Amino acid sequence: MLITNIPKALSRGAKLMPHVKAEEIIVEKGRAVGVRGVRYENGRAAERIAVTADRVVVSAGSVQSAVLFLKSGITPETVGRTLHIHPAAPVGAYFSDPVEAWHGTPQTYLSHQFATFYETGYGGFLLMAQSGHPGITGTMVPGMGEEFAGRMRRYPYLAAGSGMVHDETNGLVELKSDGDFKISYWPDDHDARAIVEGAKRCAEAYLAAGATEVFLPTPRAVSVKSASDLPLFDAIDFAPFNISIAAVHPQSTIPMGEDRRRCAVDSYGQSHAVRGLYAADMSVFPTSVGVPPQITTGTLAVRTADYLFEDMRSA
Ligand SMILES: Cc1cc2nc3c(=O)[nH]c(=O)nc-3n(C[C@H](O)[C@H](O)[C@H](O)COP(=O)(O)OP(=O)(O)OC[C@H]3O[C@@H](n4cnc5c(N)ncnc54)[C@H](O)[C@@H]3O)c2cc1C
Repeated sequence: MLITNIPKALSRGAKLMPHVKAEEIIVEKGRAVGVRGVRYENGRAAERIAVTADRVVVSAGSVQSAVLFLKSGITPETVGRTLHIHPAAPVGAYFSDPVEAWHGTPQTYLSHQFATFYETGYGGFLLMAQSGHPGITGTMVPGMGEEFAGRMRRYPYLAAGSGMVHDETNGLVELKSDGDFKISYWPDDHDARAIVEGAKRCAEAYLAAGATEVFLPTPRAVSVKSASDLPLFDAIDFAPFNISIAAVHPQSTIPMGEDRRRCAVDSYGQSHAVRGLYAADMSVFPTSVGVPPQITTGTLAVRTADYLFEDMRSA
């Protein structure tokens, strides 16, 4: 954004207000007319501000956009109630030849073989390599202290991957009584089985490719060295702190669609309840999308922008 769309927008007359946190959408007579927020200086609140506008577009990401809607009292019955995250249990695999996963473009390989949602719209997972940065890799290597450090010394020989699940679980983004927010998510039984199956299939692929040792996605180091050990995955106690789960795609907290009982915004991202208020980010996905979401997020935002433009022109 810093080197692409933001400079382009500024060159065409957009005004950017840095270090400002939007805190509330101003609604008058059922129409969004602006935003209240706080400007920060050196990390401290410096002044309260208000921006007036004909239309308001919220793009603060799936968690914060939902928080903004909720803080503004906008359709709490449909906002923050269908959080999906693409959960996955990462597995690390050691090879005898160097892998050096930090080189080149990360995550260049994936398999659709188990992605049933491609055909049916539901369930399944994408088998994907994980990004090879030391920080992310470190979270996939089991053990503590010297045991962990010893494994990280073999980092050049490590590959990591997972089965990224098209989740059906509905997590929650909600406001707490003190005004702060809370995120709750734990995979339902169906998704839990898919997460374990994804890890197991990933381990199977690594073993077939010649891995000498693959780790279960558990805090305690349990390694699998041949296909005959794979049933160890089925014995994982699927409970908090017993299985490592990663997720980097929060989505669907302000779902789009024409059914007002389920969807907070219409098919173009406009709030069903507040005219002139739009959501344009990953929060509008009507279901878990199942694939890495950046392109879909950008595409939907462009579609909403086109709609908004036409709406303004015809007003
Ligand atoms: C570790 C990681 C790896 C990823 N890898 C991939 C990948 O390989 N491929 C892929 O397709 N996707 C990937 N994603 C997902 C991708 O980052 C998202 O799809 C995308 O960023 C979502 O865009 P968004 O506009 O919904 O939210 P964001 O990009 O999160 O943008 C929201 C913006 O709003 C700002 N904001 C939040 N609250 C407020 C507020 N109250 N007031 C003002 N501003 C606010 C935030 O600072 C942020 O700049 C990855 C995500 C993570 C975390």
